[in-house]
Amino acid sequence: MPSFEEARALILASVAPLEIERVALGEADGRVLAESLDAPFDLPSADNSAMDGYAVRSADCRTSTSLDVTGFLPAGNVQTLHVGARQAIRIMTGAPLPDGADAVIPLEDILAHAGNETASGGTIGIAGPVAPGAHVRRRGEDVRARTCAIPAGALIRPPEIALIAAFGLTAVETYRRPRVAILSTGDELAAPGGPLGHGSVYDSNSFALAAAVREAGAIPHSLGIARDDRVALRDKIAEGLRIADCLVTTAGVSGGDRDLVREALSSLGVRQLFWKIDIKPGGPTAFGIGLGKPVFSLPGNPVSGLVTFEEFVRPALRKMAGHPAPIKPPVKAFLAETVHKKEEMVRFLRVSIDSIDGALFARPSGDQKTAILGTLVRADGIAILPAGRSAFEAGEAVDVHLLYPGCRS
Ligand code: AMP
Ligand code: MG
Repeated sequence: MPSFEEARALILASVAPLEIERVALGEADGRVLAESLDAPFDLPSADNSAMDGYAVRSADCRTSTSLDVTGFLPAGNVQTLHVGARQAIRIMTGAPLPDGADAVIPLEDILAHAGNETASGGTIGIAGPVAPGAHVRRRGEDVRARTCAIPAGALIRPPEIALIAAFGLTAVETYRRPRVAILSTGDELAAPGGPLGHGSVYDSNSFALAAAVREAGAIPHSLGIARDDRVALRDKIAEGLRIADCLVTTAGVSGGDRDLVREALSSLGVRQLFWKIDIKPGGPTAFGIGLGKPVFSLPGNPVSGLVTFEEFVRPALRKMAGHPAPIKPPVKAFLAETVHKKEEMVRFLRVSIDSIDGALFARPSGDQKTAILGTLVRADGIAILPAGRSAFEAGEAVDVHLLYPGCRS
């Protein structure tokens, strides 16, 4: 049976980034950039004003003085104006600096204004001195032409979108998002919205895992519920392998007599890399490759399903989506209370996190039995207590994977 780290390493070694496709900028966020994006021109493309004010020659403004206002440059104005000796041109934020000017005096620093307030004309009184380059955005000071603006492998977030659009580009090369087929299995499952018979439970895994797939940046495709029936299971699994890049099944792998997932997978030629991992919760987590695609068989318990998704499926999906570092970096948190566990296995502890004076404290969010879903609902993260020890003392620093940080308020 592999350890936590061995299982995750095996999984990551078995998957590769999907193909690269060009997508419109409006669909690029959340994807990984597959090309190094070099700046096609200097950004900003010209020296321009950082403030609403007056463009001046700093040499004229060493001491308090007055200047003649000879023109007006709103942003987007295309005319070329010239600032001569002892002159100023009224300028708006973003407008290119006129010829001759090397600084801008913000409106709020103007001491006195005589003449027309809004357009050219009149004179202004200023305090001085004004440093050369004051309130001027230099051409290329943001990004220089032909240098790397965004490296390949970067996650495209709103700021990257802004930068790409600032270069006038409308499409970029990105990795394709993985499509993930999700199959819930078990005779006891009922679809939400329908009646709940005695001994049945509603299928929460299909919905929870679809949400987790989306949170991971991938596209879920629910195959619905397969009964504990050889033919039904085989058909659904075959469909998942055909239509998706990755298949995730839940339940039916814990070795009970109706656990037919194992049989269905092998009948479809899925090559199994392992059936169990030395972890809790989530011990009966299996992984294989079918039609070259990763197949995860997660335990049926909703807590186990989500925890193993987070620790094993999510990194695989991130790698397939082109992320160069697909494992979520853990944060360090101090345990708020002593925790005991079985020495030989890794324990995933559902914890709530408090930040006190900048330090993070992890406290078990309640009953850690696998069937208690409320503890996961109240958790902010999963503390990873490594194998080889049975006691973790209050005050000890442990690794925590924060859960769904993009969904936190
Ligand atoms: P199993 O892995 O089949 O032994 O199932 C473990 C537990 O998870 C049982 O209590 C099942 O009823 C429950 N379970 C299995 N599948 C689901 C599902 N899709 N949604 C909610 N609970 C489930
Ligand atoms: Mg079952």
